[in-house]
Amino acid sequence: MRKPYIAGNWKMNMTPSAGAAFAKELAKALEGVDTKVMIAPPFVTIPAVLEAVKGSNIIVAAQNMNDHLSGAYTGEVSPAMLKDLGVTNVILGHSERRAIYGETDEFINKKVLLALSESMDIDLCVGETLEEREAGKLEEVLTRQVSVGLSGVSAEQMSHITIAYEPVWAIGTGKTATPEDADDAHAFIRSLVEKLYTKGVAEELIIQYGGSVKASNVKSLMSKKHIDGALVGGASLSVEQFLPIVTFDK
Ligand code: 13P
Repeated sequence: MRKPYIAGNWKMNMTPSAGAAFAKELAKALEGVDTKVMIAPPFVTIPAVLEAVKGSNIIVAAQNMNDHLSGAYTGEVSPAMLKDLGVTNVILGHSERRAIYGETDEFINKKVLLALSESMDIDLCVGETLEEREAGKLEEVLTRQVSVGLSGVSAEQMSHITIAYEPVWAIGTGKTATPEDADDAHAFIRSLVEKLYTKGVAEELIIQYGGSVKASNVKSLMSKKHIDGALVGGASLSVEQFLPIVTFDK
């Protein structure tokens, strides 16, 4: 049985003071709620948020990290620094990192392996662009992103991996994949993981959907067999919008 896992990716939003106030309100609202919840603030906002959610079950993640532990990498943040702060989770391979900052599957894989060596849990993002979908390349793209992204990851380490399927054309556009289309993509990812690992690993893998998730569509998405959670962008930025997503009526 896969436990629902709802995550909020704040992207480049929320100053430390705004993030702390929001996280405090969220932690209070989520008292007694059993769903696994993660929030990913910008780097500089993380310490204030960690402090604000102390004593709650909310997981705090980084949105990215460098592919080295330390060194001459001006402007970068290493997993060792995150770990020292108390950050246990990291999002890797987000489509904005791929598209805007040119991150390749090989580069993302390097970070996946480094994060695992630092005992971090990972949300690995995959997903096709509209052009790729229309060209019939959905399966080819997902196969490459999943198999290269997870290259060198052992079956035992897969318990530290969540995959987020985020079709690029559905991110921040208000367009959501239909629950059926999303479920087909999730089923395909699960079958890929079964081929790469075992049926057991595939069945336990949490696969989140991301792309214009909101209170009004979370239930129909989550009702699908292979959709185990959500990675929410815009609607994770206010308690009013995020809370009903986390507490959607199962
Ligand atoms: P939106 O929910 O704003 O479409 O963003 C999705 C996303 O990119 C989460 O990582």
